[in-house]
Amino acid sequence: MPPDFNCNFDAPYEAPHPIARGIVQVLAQNPKDYTFRGTNSFLVGETELAIIDPGPLLDSHIDALMKAVAGRPVRAILVTHSHQDHSPAAAALSQLTGAPVMGHRPIDAAIAALTTEDVDLAFAPDRELTDQDSITIDGRVIRAVHTPGHFPNHLCYALEQERILFSGDQVMGWSTTVISPPLGNLEHYLNSLEALLTREDRLYLPSHGPKIDNPHHYVRQLIEHRHCREQQIIACLQKGCRTPAEIVSQIYTGLTPRLVQAAQQSVQAHLDYLTAQGLLGPGNVYHPRPTESALHPVQS
Ligand SMILES: [Zn+2]
Ligand SMILES: [Zn+2]
Repeated sequence: MPPDFNCNFDAPYEAPHPIARGIVQVLAQNPKDYTFRGTNSFLVGETELAIIDPGPLLDSHIDALMKAVAGRPVRAILVTHSHQDHSPAAAALSQLTGAPVMGHRPIDAAIAALTTEDVDLAFAPDRELTDQDSITIDGRVIRAVHTPGHFPNHLCYALEQERILFSGDQVMGWSTTVISPPLGNLEHYLNSLEALLTREDRLYLPSHGPKIDNPHHYVRQLIEHRHCREQQIIACLQKGCRTPAEIVSQIYTGLTPRLVQAAQQSVQAHLDYLTAQGLLGPGNVYHPRPTESALHPVQS
């Protein structure tokens, strides 16, 4: 069963869109395969503000955000992670508002060179946040929740009292999350999903697409979806498939050609995960986990 994806999303581009008391969304006009209709930036607060996910470096988006700010003091610019659709507007907004940029540690250039992903190498937070760090805006506590997997420096941000989580690219209602090795890591991603299940958030506001009203149920579906995919991949390996390309051609039927590379990266993430568990040897040869009976043969 696929997760309950929801693509109903009619937010206007580059205009303030109220979500709840003191939460306004501004949708950037950067639609792509992996951004859905674009990046959701959020303004949190009423008399003073934090901006969560400044978004891409588009003049129209920065203008729209500054109009939504409407002269109120901005105390923090919070970045979920340094992909190009999330962080590049941070420095410009910081200059315009005087607010510090905050986020997890930037990605080292040598590490970023290992990937073809769109990494924002200019991302340089004024304050580095780690898991459970918090700031208070307009009397509301916003807490950073480190959720690596999609990207090593991914943070979700929790509005503690209201039990609302800005879930970034970690959990999105319209689609699964791209896990692209080597910076993407499936084991870390699954651990991050399990960690979210220990929280009591009632609403997720992702950086792409619509809100998620029943987040625990949906997160469990996402975990189950990855486990099902793993079983499909193991079945392919047992039939003799060895490469991500071979596996994708077997299990992703009817895939749009431009998404084939992403599917292969996702399969590679699964292969890395199986390797880390000691289940995959050189040449992607699958070694099943010994069964209990094989480990402890019945004495006759
Ligand atoms: Zn991302
Ligand atoms: Zn994104």
